[in-house]
Amino acid sequence: MPLYVVSTPIGNIGDISFRAVNVLKDSELIAAEDTRRTGILLKKYDLKTAQTSYNDFNKKAKTKHLLNLLKEGKSVALVSDSGTPGISDPGYFLIKNCIEEDIDVIPVPGASAAIAALTCSGFPTDSFVFYGFLPKKEGQKKKFLDELEQDKTVILYESPYRLIKTLKLMAVVMPQRNICIARELTKKFEEFIRGKTEEVYKKLKDKKIKGEIVIVVSKNLLPEK
Ligand code: SAM
Repeated sequence: MPLYVVSTPIGNIGDISFRAVNVLKDSELIAAEDTRRTGILLKKYDLKTAQTSYNDFNKKAKTKHLLNLLKEGKSVALVSDSGTPGISDPGYFLIKNCIEEDIDVIPVPGASAAIAALTCSGFPTDSFVFYGFLPKKEGQKKKFLDELEQDKTVILYESPYRLIKTLKLMAVVMPQRNICIARELTKKFEEFIRGKTEEVYKKLKDKKIKGEIVIVVSKNLLPEK
């Protein structure tokens, strides 16, 4: 049987496709990054499918087990905490191993925070790069930002706890670039904060930032003087 790679909501529980619900219903097992969180989704859609956990800590052992089940003809769906499995979460390892073992991998597409943030950033979408989470260490982060792509829109994930420090660094390293902070997408307190790096830093520096964050950085449209 193929592995179904099923996207789930990034906040608003209504953001799931009919097909995704049906695939989850018809699967014999759901490999979920967080079974408790997926349990809420299953309850909402009245789905009784069994779950097993699949996360960064158990992925090596669990991949073997899941490959065996798939080879025996069991239908398995992979879901992550939220959004599209494999995008900055452990799904990649299972997908890669399935392909290596000649097991088909079928996407059931849906929400991803990166694409939701990009589409509403107002920045060019014709070519963009996604780097996932920024490096945590200051030195590495500075180097990363110093060398950041100039000619494409860039999408980054960042923790709310590190956002202010990152914005301060951005204001120094790339004062000429526009950014969009997309916070709590599809949720009650969804907001977009747009402006030059320094403006956004000044706006947020004394606030306690909560929730999930995507940073979108516009192309470098203005040549540096
Ligand atoms: N697989 C997910 C996807 O497709 O977007 C991403 C998983 S990654 C572990 C989690 C990160 O995605 C968060 O730290 C945040 O940067 C971003 N994210 C997830 N949901 C979000 C939301 N509702 N609003 C803003 N960012 C979100």
